[in-house]
Amino acid sequence: MNSVSRRDFGRLLGVGTIAATLPPLFAQTPPKPRTSVRLSANENPFGPSSSAMSAMRDAMRLANRYPDDQYDELLETVAKLNGVSADHVTVGDGSGEILKITAAAFSSPARKVVMADPTFEALGNYARAAQAEVVKVPLTSAYEHDLEKMAAVPGAGVIYICNPNNPTASITSKDKVRAFLQSVPQSTMVLVDEAYFHYADSPDYESVIPLVQMRPNLIVARTFSKIYGMAGLRCGYGIAQPGVIEKMNHQKPWDSVNVIALAGARASLLDNAHVTEGRKRNSDTRNEVVSALKQLGYEVVPSQANFFMVNIRRPVRPVINAIREQGVHVGRLFPALPEYLRVTIGTPQEMQSFLSAFRTVMA
Ligand code: PMP
Repeated sequence: MNSVSRRDFGRLLGVGTIAATLPPLFAQTPPKPRTSVRLSANENPFGPSSSAMSAMRDAMRLANRYPDDQYDELLETVAKLNGVSADHVTVGDGSGEILKITAAAFSSPARKVVMADPTFEALGNYARAAQAEVVKVPLTSAYEHDLEKMAAVPGAGVIYICNPNNPTASITSKDKVRAFLQSVPQSTMVLVDEAYFHYADSPDYESVIPLVQMRPNLIVARTFSKIYGMAGLRCGYGIAQPGVIEKMNHQKPWDSVNVIALAGARASLLDNAHVTEGRKRNSDTRNEVVSALKQLGYEVVPSQANFFMVNIRRPVRPVINAIREQGVHVGRLFPALPEYLRVTIGTPQEMQSFLSAFRTVMA
């Protein structure tokens, strides 16, 4: 195996190491740094906001109850913040569950999934499980979704637009997305995945949540795993028109999101300062590491997210492995871009470790 799965990562460190470094449950202080630097899964190295931590500590007292009230409270909060009613919202066990129920509800052997290449593969994998055909359309040379080609694929049940896109961290410009949404027939659902929305600051970027009221075939997915720092807690949501939400909910198990995650998610949404701070910290660190790589002579895809891709002009797999030997875990191989390395933005200190490993390996 060339890259380490998330599960194997813990094993690699050794159970003893983990037990020795485990923080007390929901401690105020961030967990101690791991012995390895993990820049492989686009996580937030700083964790949840202190108000989310406090809400989660309180929610532990509700561990014996089913999470109906907390689910409804999160629906209401998401709805209010986005100017829609609660029947426009569904909450999932991570936004991965939103992708899964979209594939289950709207793809089939007769209804294809169309997605970019490369992009976040989960929805395609879920669709294949429903025997649906998955059609991949390469990104343009500017790393945008090729929306014209994607719209031209016949028989699409779902078109998946990841904006900003994982793994390239590039955006597809707002004018193109708007025009595309107008052109897609209503029989085809469009899922716009905005997992990295908060990191994007380009004037060419916008969220399409405000378009949901006008577009009966639009679903927008968001997650608490990125800027909100809650990847391990598993919570995400989808916004769409009520009839669409109903079809998605039919595919979802009851109570798939736990009471702690629901409480933390709601508190996170109300903590704007944590988002502003996280965005700034990310872009400051990203600017530094990207300029260091440029000084070394490498081209970096312009990033609008908490990770970036660097063109290393040689096969990436051995480089990923060699960097791991230096104690730094970076993203896996993305076959469409076999000479590009994906690196998550960690703390400034972690990025120093990455740069030093990178210099050593590339020398
Ligand atoms: N969408 C994108 C684009 C992602 O990169 C990820 C995770 N890396 C997800 C969805 C799933 O995130 P989660 O299930 O943790 O919300």
